[in-house]
Amino acid sequence: MTDLLLPFGERIGDGQMMRPEEVANGLACGCVCVKCRRRLVAKQGTIIAAHFAHEAEVGCIGAFESSMHAMAKQIIAEALMVRPPMVGLTTGYDWHRARRFQAPFRTGIA
Ligand SMILES: [Zn+2]
Repeated sequence: MTDLLLPFGERIGDGQMMRPEEVANGLACGCVCVKCRRRLVAKQGTIIAAHFAHEAEVGCIGAFESSMHAMAKQIIAEALMVRPPMVGLTTGYDWHRARRFQAPFRTGIA
């Protein structure tokens, strides 16, 4: 069990990762937990930030991390590239070696 609210659910049918604001409230959201595959409930209340919860308490360890991972993969797949921040080197490095080392980080996944 974690105190972190579940930010994303996997929509049944097409496998898209969804935010709770993008689906119908409650069980009508049609989403499952990407970690345990159990049904989720979208909670779009006004007091706590919108989030998903398991339909029944199941002690699903790692659901938050798995949902973040799946959403990150979806974003990368849709963008068809990754732009990680450049690594800054200040002193004490051979710049020719540093450039060779940095090259893979400048290349996006395209
Ligand atoms: Zn779960």
